Amino acid sequence: MPSFPRETHLQLEPFFAGPGLDRADSARADTERLEQLASDPLARELVWSDGIPAIGDDGALQWRYVSDPSLFLGIDAGSPRFSAIQDEVAAGPSVFSQIGNLSQNAAPIFAAALSLARWHSRHRFCANCGNSSAIVRGGWSRRCQECDAEHYPRVDPVVIMLAEHDGRLLLGRQYHYPPGRYSALAGFVEVGETVEDAVAREIREEAGIEVAGVTYVASQPWPFPSSLMIGCTAQALDDALTVDLAELEDARWFTRDEVKSALEGVDGAPFQAPPRHAIARTLLERWLAA
Ligand SMILES: [Zn+2]
Repeated sequence: MPSFPRETHLQLEPFFAGPGLDRADSARADTERLEQLASDPLARELVWSDGIPAIGDDGALQWRYVSDPSLFLGIDAGSPRFSAIQDEVAAGPSVFSQIGNLSQNAAPIFAAALSLARWHSRHRFCANCGNSSAIVRGGWSRRCQECDAEHYPRVDPVVIMLAEHDGRLLLGRQYHYPPGRYSALAGFVEVGETVEDAVAREIREEAGIEVAGVTYVASQPWPFPSSLMIGCTAQALDDALTVDLAELEDARWFTRDEVKSALEGVDGAPFQAPPRHAIARTLLERWLAA
């Protein structure tokens, strides 16, 4: 049997989840208040490195005195927190290798700053008329200087789910995964679709399985670049798989013992579990704990 890199971190709460900062929404539309906050002696600005918020050796974010308070991130125990606008923001899978030691406390702030800065770097012009837009509300929207349309940072809902049948779980393997990795199936929610319908559709499309009893478990911001992962479970009506090989390299049923040994990272585990940053790991740990 193969042996996989060992990761035994218990992740019952989704990584990137948590209150992070007080977002202080009431200050956003108040230009004078924002200026006061930026000149507060306790105000700090996020440090960026290689297109992402810089992460210290201790897993914390790095802060310095404010020079460009374009994006108001919120208030941390009386200390106003800002970020400068970034020309280049990394937000794809390349970031995964850079967030290995990001602490869970810093993760929600990391996620919000990364998604927000990325949105500004790619949405400088009005989607309605094509003219340039300006940052308003402390960076939480942009207003067109020509047609006055207001545009908000996007959030893309994604369903991610475990289908269960007779005590076994359906997990899939995407072509780009590291060797041995299996994880929860997932897909974007489409316009005009409920979360429940999206879960059923994705499992039907990717594995040829009909499900019932879709149940919400937990959600997670996934800032690569701006997804909201909506974690669910569902009951499969049968176990005969028809895998869509355009989407997945493989999909299989795994027993409770197999899931347990994968999460524990023991030698001979039948697959490599998802990393601690992924809500798929939280879904697996909660299923096992239930
Ligand atoms: Zn416009």
